[in-house]
Amino acid sequence: MRPHLVFWISALVRILLILSGAAVCGYFWGVKVGLVLGLIGMLGLVVMQLQYLLSLSDWLDNPSSARLPDGWGAWTEIFSRLYKLRRGDEKNQAELAEWLARFRQAMTLLPDGVVIMDDVMFLEWCNPIAEHHLGLDLKRDKGMRVTNLVRTPEFIDYIILGRYETPLTLSFRDRKLIVHIIPFENRRQILVTHDVTESERIDMMRRDFIANASHELRTPLTVINGFLEIASLQPDLEVSIRSSHLKLMVEQGERMQRLVEDMLTLSRLESAEFQVRCEKIDMHAMLRHILQEGQALSAGKHQITLELEGPNLQGSSDEIRSAISNLVTNAIRYTPEHGEIKIVWKSGAQGPKLVVQDSGIGISAEHISRLTERFYRVDKSRSRETQGTGLGLAIVKHVLLRHNAQLLIESTPGVGSKFCVQFPVSRIVE
Ligand code: ADP
Repeated sequence: MRPHLVFWISALVRILLILSGAAVCGYFWGVKVGLVLGLIGMLGLVVMQLQYLLSLSDWLDNPSSARLPDGWGAWTEIFSRLYKLRRGDEKNQAELAEWLARFRQAMTLLPDGVVIMDDVMFLEWCNPIAEHHLGLDLKRDKGMRVTNLVRTPEFIDYIILGRYETPLTLSFRDRKLIVHIIPFENRRQILVTHDVTESERIDMMRRDFIANASHELRTPLTVINGFLEIASLQPDLEVSIRSSHLKLMVEQGERMQRLVEDMLTLSRLESAEFQVRCEKIDMHAMLRHILQEGQALSAGKHQITLELEGPNLQGSSDEIRSAISNLVTNAIRYTPEHGEIKIVWKSGAQGPKLVVQDSGIGISAEHISRLTERFYRVDKSRSRETQGTGLGLAIVKHVLLRHNAQLLIESTPGVGSKFCVQFPVSRIVE
């Protein structure tokens, strides 16, 4: 049956019951008594309805399913329907709160910063990454204008112009951020920040590397091309001049070959797929061999000594040989004639240590932290004279990184340099 009909029928039944009760009383005790009792009954009915209306109004002021009163007659139906509505509402709210919590958690896990702003750019909400990128603090800054919090002219201009189709590249607090603004419902806006500092740095390194490598290759190529041109234009060149040209061309060709080999070694060392081999390295035999090579390079111009006391290591024998060889070669190349070079392999509490010490030209303090950068040279012309590629110490750094070892450099200009390689105890092998 329809609810309205139930309501009307039950109200009519109640009125009829009161009226018929009053009529029966009037029949026995007189019309007046019947009228008074009928009036009292009707008044009671009205008071009861008012009482329920009052309870309903109280409940509406502070609705909670627990406080909903029990009703009588048609009120039973009304209160039970209100109760169901309220329960449904509470369930929806709980579901909504759960969704909101999940949404916030997802936003917290995003790798990008997200800021929600109202129509006039006041901060409503942001995730922790956005706090980190833009130096915000949600608790402190909520309700503040974002342009007052991110005070850079580029950002303010971007907001004023409102050309949000193209993202903004923003330099902010030593970071490079790509900023997108996306308008959404009720003229609110979402600001998304993506940190590209690291990828920009890698890009820059790659660009620098290509520029440096091209520059390094261009010089020997120019020399070779020059001599080839002379040879083709002057076929009757004197034999002695021609052979000196050929000698220079061979030298330049060798220089290019060394450079390409060093670049290939570096790229192999940097590639993640190229795992460090774990073989036993006979350090004493390796260092004796490096000493012989060093003596050949020095051609008796230096006094080179070797002290062997340290243990054997495990790692890549080729890589370790190339790193130590680079250090010894540098010591010879940057030490004038009659200088001394000491190679020491010893044990220590922190692990075995290799020291390559020379009495050469030395390096001033401001260069030391940059020596392992690719193509970094203290004195470019001297490095070329001594056939350096500028990649030797970059290779040393990568090899040592791959073997969990550390490079320490001490040097005094005019006195000499000391390159110490500290290996971890875990690399020792019996
Ligand atoms: P290069 O091929 O130019 O020697 P490296 O990467 O091996 O390149 O070394 C970088 C720079 O460090 C060199 O150009 C040189 O200026 C400096 N250097 C390296 N070893 C020594 C050393 N033992 N004494 C003085 N300077 C050194």
